[in-house]
Amino acid sequence: MAAPEKLLTPAEPRAKSWVEPPLIDLKPVNWFFDLNRAMSLWPITFGLACCAIEMMSASMARFDIARFGAEVFRPSARQADLMMVTGTVSKKMAPVLVRLYEQMPAPKYVMACGNCAISGGPFKFEGQYGVVEGVDRLVPVDVYVPGCPPRPEAILEGVFKIQEIITGRRWWPEPREMA
Ligand code: SF4
Repeated sequence: MAAPEKLLTPAEPRAKSWVEPPLIDLKPVNWFFDLNRAMSLWPITFGLACCAIEMMSASMARFDIARFGAEVFRPSARQADLMMVTGTVSKKMAPVLVRLYEQMPAPKYVMACGNCAISGGPFKFEGQYGVVEGVDRLVPVDVYVPGCPPRPEAILEGVFKIQEIITGRRWWPEPREMA
């Protein structure tokens, strides 16, 4: 069954009203909570195609996403605050993706990992009818990680960028140029 047409329009910008105002609105307290939030991101266990293998690789021993606090992949959207969209988003899958996003508690973040999630990737051509040409047509995206597929290091960079969005600064050294 085709996805409802309303899901295929560009997503609304992130609505500030989705986040309840903090009970204690003190800058140092908010900074402390933001820092904790950034250093313990809980991604939802959610993969759609080949890019998901790179996400799994990023969580394994060689790349070890646990060093940056984002290794607790949650099986329930209600316990997750980061959605890495890794793979091709088919129109059949679109309502499921939106449902999972809506089940995640705010504040929540979305990474579009790979060319398929960003724009439809190699499946974008005239006359195609099965693929959503960019997950930002469904949900608001915070960080885009290009590649087909992006390497695990690139996915880690995406996590760093999310941490920077939350806290306002980068916490890890910039990648060095290869000699
Ligand atoms: S971007 Fe490339 S590697 Fe990733 S899901 Fe699409 S075809 Fe597969």
